[in-house]
Amino acid sequence: MNTDNPGEARPTPAAPGVWRVTTPMPGRPTHVHAYLAELAGGRWMLVDSGLGTEDAWNALEAGVTDVAGGWDAVAVHVITHMHMDHVGLGARVREAAGAPVLMGRLDAERMAHAAAHPEEETEYRAGLFRRCGAPGEWIAAVQEGHAGARALAPPVRVDAVLDGDEGEVPGADGWRHVWTPGHTAGHLSLFRPAGRVLVAGDAVLPRITPTLGVNRQRADPVGDYLAALDRLEALDPSIVLPGHGDPVPGTARIAELREAASGETEAVAALLGAEPAATWEVVDRRYPGREMGGGMRMLALRETLAHLQRLVAAGRARREEGRDGAETFRRA
Ligand SMILES: [Zn+2]
Repeated sequence: MNTDNPGEARPTPAAPGVWRVTTPMPGRPTHVHAYLAELAGGRWMLVDSGLGTEDAWNALEAGVTDVAGGWDAVAVHVITHMHMDHVGLGARVREAAGAPVLMGRLDAERMAHAAAHPEEETEYRAGLFRRCGAPGEWIAAVQEGHAGARALAPPVRVDAVLDGDEGEVPGADGWRHVWTPGHTAGHLSLFRPAGRVLVAGDAVLPRITPTLGVNRQRADPVGDYLAALDRLEALDPSIVLPGHGDPVPGTARIAELREAASGETEAVAALLGAEPAATWEVVDRRYPGREMGGGMRMLALRETLAHLQRLVAAGRARREEGRDGAETFRRA
C-alpha cells in the first residue's frame, strides 16, 4: 500500500490501547498515520485522518472497521494540525462518525478564515512571497498549485477548540492535549499519562525535521517550536507516535530536534554578509545548486524567513526595504 511501510495494509498496534492506521499519499512522504486510541466502554478517539483522496478514505475506513468495528465507535476526532494530509478526510469522518471534531484554537481559526476568505488568503500568500523576493511568475505558478490542491482538504467544521498550553480532551478521558506550535501555530499533540504515550502529529518526526514557517498568528515560530519541544520533553514520554514514520522511544529524538532547530538558525546566520540579500537569495545560498520544486522552495522560504526574523529579533541581522516590495537582510 505504501513503499515506506511495505505490507502495512492493516492497522498495527502502536502502544497499549493505541492502533496506527496508515493511509497513502501520492507525493512525499508517501504515507500519513492516523491513530485510534481506545477509551472506556468500547469507544475510540481518532487522531488525524488522511489526505482527501478515495484511496486514503478506503484505507482509513478499513482501519477503523478493523480496529473499532466501524465509525459508530468513534466518539471523538482530534486533528493535530491544519495541513491537508492530517485534516483532509475530516469532513467525511465527521459525517460518517457523527463525532465532534476537536482542534487547536489557532489552526481552527486559520482554517475557518481560509475557507471563508480564500481570495484574501491567496493575496496574503502572494504578499509574503513578494516580501521574500520571489519572481512574479514563480508566485503565479505556486498559487495555481494551491488552487488545485484545495480539493484534497475540504473545509471541516470544528465542534470545539482546544486552547492553552495543556488540558483535558473533552470526550477522551485519560488523554491530554499539549500545545506544540512551530510546524503550525495551533499544532497539538496528545498525551496519555498512563503508559506515557505521546501522539505527536508532526511536532516530532523520526527521520526528517518538521518544517517551521512564518505565519500571521505567531511572531516567532522557531522560538515557539523550541518551547514546544521543552514541553514535550518535560512529559517524559516512553513512546512517541509520529504523523509520518515509525514510533520513537523516549526523549532522545526530541533533544535532537531542538539541536537541529537551533542549528538551522546558526546556519542561516552564517549565510548573511554585509550586502543585503532577500530571503530568496538566502535560500539559494543555503541550498546551492539544488533543484527545488515550487512546494519545496515555498517551505524553504517560509522556514528561512522564520530564522531570519529570529536573528533580527536577537539583534544579529538587520532588515531593510529592498526592491519591488521585497525585504532584505544583512549581518547586523
Ligand atoms: Zn504531515
